[in-house]
Amino acid sequence: MASSADRDAFEVCGRCGEPLAGTDWYPATTRLRADGTRLVFSFCDRHCLAAWDRPD
Ligand SMILES: [Zn+2]
Repeated sequence: MASSADRDAFEVCGRCGEPLAGTDWYPATTRLRADGTRLVFSFCDRHCLAAWDRPD
């Protein structure tokens, strides 16, 4: 069962917080935390993904 955190990851952009419509494809990525928890992040477009992935 998906947690509320998983659901939220697909409802708003992981970087800018822009709501995602849910009907289109959005770029997403995952991070594996040290404790083994897999975090999923989705983004409104590839630019937000790139900026989030490389903050510099
Ligand atoms: Zn965004």
